[in-house]
Amino acid sequence: EIKKVDKNYFGSYSSFGIHREMLSDKVRTDAYRDAIMNNPSLLSDAAVLDVGCGTGILSLLSAQAGASSVIAVEASDKMAAVATQIAKDNGLLWSGSSNEGISNGVIRVVQGMVEELDNSTHIQPHSIDVLLSEWMGYCLLYESMLSSVLFARDRWLKPGGAILPDTATMFVAGFGRGGTSIPFWENVYGFNMSCIGKELVEDAARVPIVDVVDGCDIVTNTVVLQSFDLLKMMPDEMDFTSSIELEPQLENPTNYSTDLICKTTWCYGVVLWFDTGFTGRFCKEKSIVLSTSPYAPQTHWLQTILTFREPIAMTLGKLDAERLAEVGTEACPAMKMQARISIVRASQHRSVDISLEIAGI
Ligand code: SAH
Repeated sequence: EIKKVDKNYFGSYSSFGIHREMLSDKVRTDAYRDAIMNNPSLLSDAAVLDVGCGTGILSLLSAQAGASSVIAVEASDKMAAVATQIAKDNGLLWSGSSNEGISNGVIRVVQGMVEELDNSTHIQPHSIDVLLSEWMGYCLLYESMLSSVLFARDRWLKPGGAILPDTATMFVAGFGRGGTSIPFWENVYGFNMSCIGKELVEDAARVPIVDVVDGCDIVTNTVVLQSFDLLKMMPDEMDFTSSIELEPQLENPTNYSTDLICKTTWCYGVVLWFDTGFTGRFCKEKSIVLSTSPYAPQTHWLQTILTFREPIAMTLGKLDAERLAEVGTEACPAMKMQARISIVRASQHRSVDISLEIAGI
């Protein structure tokens, strides 16, 4: 029986627009293609399970890479039907035990939730060599599809089998004024519309926003918020609290005011992003990192922005030589910012609750 939140969720994947968006995200789809196509020793003759196949792209690539069987599971009935058609149209659909002279594909599409897949559907427990899935949501964990992948791992993956991707890492960094909508609204065709910018920043302080942050608007170092090993992690590790420390960083001098004795920057909030790794553990011929960093080319995940109610002044502990002589070294200690960020799956929805606490020191 499918719960109502799941019904809405899979319903949203029935529209082709979202699949087009994912497929045209070149950073995303190239990463999967490269991992699948450039690791022949992993994929050739492998039994593959594609969790949430959508259009079937990862299954099609796996078949092309020489997999001996591919089970493509998709909960949305519309997409399962479409994936079946596509596999067929490309000559890659399995069509029963092979008849002589008829070319036979390796892909079998199964409609349903992977949690409800049973032994009868051409698959035995712990028989899968490669578990493939594109499960990542905004801020990595929004949508909580990871738990389905872990479920599939525990039930279907062979001991020693591979998961692609096999790692996921969440990062955090502080951003400056340029990362907010303030500068845009300050000057619109010469008019001051900053009241809009101000209101948007107030709204952004209440709920996380998915939007672009540019690398040049980051004003701190980057630290790891959490890392996951998909091969070993338990589902409850998806909920976590991490304490981190951010230091101001003079990446881009225009973010800093040098009028003051100390170099000071204003931090308007923190930005979260993630990488997933197709590491050398399984991808021995070619490992791949799929990054959604502000420093990397943009993906459809963008970044997740947590804005402070008030910006925090961050002082850089370095002074130019002239100033140093004037004020002495102790006059201007580096100010670090301590933050506690917790991300917890919301029980009733497929969303996550994010909380942020800041202490300046
Ligand atoms: N693999 C495709 C689609 C990724 S989007 C691609 O890379 O383009 C994720 C897909 O997984 C959606 O189509 C969604 O309907 C499906 N899905 C999510 N959770 C699932 C589950 N528990 N069982 C089966 N399918 C699931």
